[in-house]
Amino acid sequence: MQPELIIRNGTVFDGLGNPGIWADVAVYDGRIAEVGSVAGDGAREIDATGLFVTPGFIDIHSHSDFTLLVDPRAVSSVHQGVTLEVIGNCGHGCFPLVNKALAKNSIYGITGDLALDWSTPAAYLDRLEAAGPAINVLTLVPNGQLRQATVGLAERPANPDERQEMCRHLDEALDAGAFGLSTGLEYPVEMGASGEEIAELLQPIARRGLLYATHTRKRDQGALAAVEEALVTARDAGVRLQISHLLPRGGRADCEASVELVQRARDGGQDVAFDMHTRDFSLTFLHAMLPPWAMAEGLGGLAGVLSSADNRARIHAYPSIVTSGGWERVTLLDNDVAPEFARLDFNSIGQRLNMMPGDAALELLCRSANAARPLMIIRPVYDVADQDLAFGHDLCVPGSDATALCPDGPLAGSAFHGAYGWAAWFYRVYVRERALLSPAAAIHKLTGQPAAVLNLANRGVLRKGARADIAVFDPEVFADAATLWQPNQTALGMNFVLVNGALVLDHGAITKNRPGRVLRHGSGQ
Ligand SMILES: [Zn+2]
Repeated sequence: MQPELIIRNGTVFDGLGNPGIWADVAVYDGRIAEVGSVAGDGAREIDATGLFVTPGFIDIHSHSDFTLLVDPRAVSSVHQGVTLEVIGNCGHGCFPLVNKALAKNSIYGITGDLALDWSTPAAYLDRLEAAGPAINVLTLVPNGQLRQATVGLAERPANPDERQEMCRHLDEALDAGAFGLSTGLEYPVEMGASGEEIAELLQPIARRGLLYATHTRKRDQGALAAVEEALVTARDAGVRLQISHLLPRGGRADCEASVELVQRARDGGQDVAFDMHTRDFSLTFLHAMLPPWAMAEGLGGLAGVLSSADNRARIHAYPSIVTSGGWERVTLLDNDVAPEFARLDFNSIGQRLNMMPGDAALELLCRSANAARPLMIIRPVYDVADQDLAFGHDLCVPGSDATALCPDGPLAGSAFHGAYGWAAWFYRVYVRERALLSPAAAIHKLTGQPAAVLNLANRGVLRKGARADIAVFDPEVFADAATLWQPNQTALGMNFVLVNGALVLDHGAITKNRPGRVLRHGSGQ
């Protein structure tokens, strides 16, 4: 049969870390039909002279759960060669939805564009498939939603009945095809989760040979104990472990020690690895500063909560992902609620509002109660040496820790730092600028290595028979264009991208094809 497409004369990388070879790649029926010197003509031919031809990139840590429903084109991802995203990370995600007013606070990238009118994991995955994403997607089960669906906002371990209910939701999600469980133990809704509770949730994960990904319990003070907790929990349960964005925020010594802990566990035979986002700052919701009880009525009820001086004092005393580094290091991102305070730190915002920084934050949260998009903040946390420590490490793969976006359409007004530039930044910085990784090694970290973590045999690798998820790019040009204050700029240098054999990027332009699939564990990928 005639190949649908032949990519000629490129430098072809297999994604397994081997050096590139000069070869053609033929594609037929969604798969790679041949790699080598391909005779005959393809229905379409692409000249890849001077370009790298690699497996499509895998984003092991994405938060595109909601944005792919709103705009499935995933333009930010496609321009970087991303062909598969892993969603449901950090305990955040779009199922199960029981109390929707609560659930929406654990969905990254949420906007008012779409009603949350599904409930079960299967309904969500069907919905995602029906949206027709341009790229492939697979999901983990977000523990934050398991807890909100059963325990609500109570800041305590789940009781036996609730644990049973959580396991029921979890089993349902695993039956629907989820690839594992994620926790976000640093977030208010999961802080009350006990080790016993997580151990119970990990039983079906272990039975089915799935993955446990964890955003650990503490990432400022106490970060090392939290990494240790993750290692012990996973070891005792007998599950494969992926530690999400491993590096703590407490400085160099903690970063080194956390990497050492993981390395030592690996040396001892534990199946553990980690990922890291490419931002040198931490980014999250401003409302993550609030203890769960203060969110009982959502942000609409916050003004009422704050009418008590005692409540205010308790909130200010609450250690959170937002405030652990001090308010002077917390910067408000661009937003529609208080645009005049965007890009300022909370000391400055407080001065302008004539309030203490923490009170200014609460004031803005009250004002944002009906906003279409939640307020987001950043905290600077990493330097170059920290990043080199992570990205240079054999067990680390990069991830976006962001939502797929599109510069036009319904998501045009949304921003999520990393979305448009993470993979391109990684390649530019680690291959071309700091030269810490060879092209083959960097490509491996973007393809075969995350595929191995996910146990995917036919993706993340460019060889005969594998799925035709392919990136074709100019190794001298591939780079990020997004900046801190202009984050919505597509990456440069990506020429062609195929998903399941169909072009989603053609000569650097997005096509109308949306060939992505929702991968379901156990039903062939
Ligand atoms: Zn996280």
